[in-house]
Amino acid sequence: MIVRVLGSAAGGGVPQWNCACDNCSAARAGRRAQRTQSGLAVSADGKRWLLLNCSPDIASQIEAFAPLHPGKPRGTPIAGILFTDANVDHLGGLATLRQSGEHHFIVRSSAIVRAIATAQSAYVPFSQPPHRWLESPLDVPCEAASEDDIVGNQLAVRALSVPGTTPGYDGRRRIPGAVVAYEVSDLDRKNRLLFAPVFSGVDSALYAAIASAHVAFVDGTFYTTDELVAQHLLPKSAESLGHQSVGGEGGTLERLRGIGTRIVFTHLNNSNPMLDPSSAASQEIREAATEIAYDGMELLL
Ligand SMILES: [Zn+2]
Ligand SMILES: [Zn+2]
Repeated sequence: MIVRVLGSAAGGGVPQWNCACDNCSAARAGRRAQRTQSGLAVSADGKRWLLLNCSPDIASQIEAFAPLHPGKPRGTPIAGILFTDANVDHLGGLATLRQSGEHHFIVRSSAIVRAIATAQSAYVPFSQPPHRWLESPLDVPCEAASEDDIVGNQLAVRALSVPGTTPGYDGRRRIPGAVVAYEVSDLDRKNRLLFAPVFSGVDSALYAAIASAHVAFVDGTFYTTDELVAQHLLPKSAESLGHQSVGGEGGTLERLRGIGTRIVFTHLNNSNPMLDPSSAASQEIREAATEIAYDGMELLL
């Protein structure tokens, strides 16, 4: 399985257009890598690709990665798209893919995410022919995966509901399916990727899924719960935005310490000190033998 990090930032990217925080300023000045909004592309054969989330930066992400370029006058090697939730930075790229013509996408999300997304007229065409927007059954064991779970791509997927809320524009409702993580496996189940870029806690089911994966991309949005407040960026805590912070007591790093899986933090907000390689936060990430995703990172499982 080939895994490409299309983008590694939370909503807004790094730099964010209206932000002059330390990380955005450093990225703008070329002193630190720029980051687009998060998403992965996954393929079993390098020919047909599955997107895990589709950010508003998808057009530049496609251009930056030749295997996603069209191979004929009109077409795309992208076969399917999975959505973890209905946040705009995760599904806003659908609006960019609207010129798909006769190409049909298989889109998958929880039922609630499909309902929230298709309440917006820009996304309705993806629930109608030639496309199909399928409901990911929640928490069905991988072994029982139906034919529909194999996204025309020699890969089996399983959606796992994780602690979280619907987006701010939907009122941050805490309901099942508001946020899911995806396990993506080769059909022989030998290699397993977990994609969990958003969660407000690591419950026992998510912990078990991370533990049984070979590589887990996990929510690295905020390092401390109050960093947006401390930097005078937004009067909101990590929890109020539906994220568990990485550092500190009860943080994701502490929860996952010693789990044995290769852990890659992704979906980093521009306020996050983990973006500065010289910070104490970055040092803690390295000392825990965990990693930080970057745009263009590629893994072979
Ligand atoms: Zn996001
Ligand atoms: Zn910033």
